[in-house]
Amino acid sequence: MKKHNFYAGPSILTPYTIKNTADAVINFADTGLSLLEVSHRSKEFVAVCEEARALVAELLQLPEDYKVLFLGGGASMQFCMVPFNLMKKKAAYTDTGTWAHNAIKEAKIFGEVEVLGSSKDENYIYIPKDFTIPSDVDYFHFTSNNTIYGTEVRKDYDSPVPVVCDMSSDIFSRVFDPTKYGIIYAGAQKNLAPSGVTIVIVKESLLGHVDREIPTMLDYRTHIKKDTMFNTPPVLPIYSALQTLKYYKEQGGVAAMEKLDLEKAAILYDEIDRNKLFRGTVAEEDRSIMNVCFVMNPDYAELEKEFYDFAVSKGIVGIKGHRSVGGFRASLYNALPKESVEVLVNAMKEFEAKH
Ligand SMILES: *Cc1c(COP(=O)(O)O)cnc(C)c1O
Repeated sequence: MKKHNFYAGPSILTPYTIKNTADAVINFADTGLSLLEVSHRSKEFVAVCEEARALVAELLQLPEDYKVLFLGGGASMQFCMVPFNLMKKKAAYTDTGTWAHNAIKEAKIFGEVEVLGSSKDENYIYIPKDFTIPSDVDYFHFTSNNTIYGTEVRKDYDSPVPVVCDMSSDIFSRVFDPTKYGIIYAGAQKNLAPSGVTIVIVKESLLGHVDREIPTMLDYRTHIKKDTMFNTPPVLPIYSALQTLKYYKEQGGVAAMEKLDLEKAAILYDEIDRNKLFRGTVAEEDRSIMNVCFVMNPDYAELEKEFYDFAVSKGIVGIKGHRSVGGFRASLYNALPKESVEVLVNAMKEFEAKH
């Protein structure tokens, strides 16, 4: 049976990415060697890495002084690397979910954190909006898409200080103005590649202004200086990332992805709103187009397990909600075809007709 993969991360990749990665694991760039056994300093792999960096810059239309790095340690490593490199005394954060919360916790190790808004008391079902970014902080940090709760900030903030953004689960799904950002980071396993690599985009002029000593590996300048090859980078995930980036470009770039993502999300949210058995969990204006969270309406709460099993019987995989929200979460990343969303919506309709 055809599977429809709604996992939140690691998550669906394009067939193009999977096929080319599998081929390269057998014979990489006609070297007669597996991608798994070649030097990261071979000319073939250096070319892969350079092309991937260039494509990130091209797809996101990054200005000249923004450097693209492929680092290990996951997005979670950036929770400490950001303050390590940028915080002199104080930074501002919004608290919009578990990941934002974890980022705040790390930042507090390095200085004072001003939390500009938090929706924690309502289990993060909305994005705080009633705040002004102060001008006496070193940077402002936010999470653009809250993967666990299904809320998203689909705009760029105007800020008097550099903006740092965790775009792990929505990078390449929205056209944005990169000049509004100082640092962008994204774990690749949500919308780009297998786990193991994090894309970090750094405006170089922001670095070198803190007094503290920074361990070599945690200093962005180390990686910029060596074109992201200071040490062995995650070779296979970078190769896969390149395949996905090529696919995005071929499809028409980020704008084309955004159009498709908006259509897919509308199809599912319309059904959640229409179907008497279900309801969405977050404020309508903050709904994520990447992670759609929904639960059974209270009158039908006892049908949750039955619907889950029904969905599984249709080939639908990975819609169990995160334990802190419950119910269901359907992740609609770029690689998920519209057809899979239609299969889910049809399952919801069929299930409604049975009850
Ligand atoms: C998944 C996720 C993370 C954590 O990523 P790791 O690569 O596992 O460290 C951080 N932020 C967001 C928004 C995420 O979705």
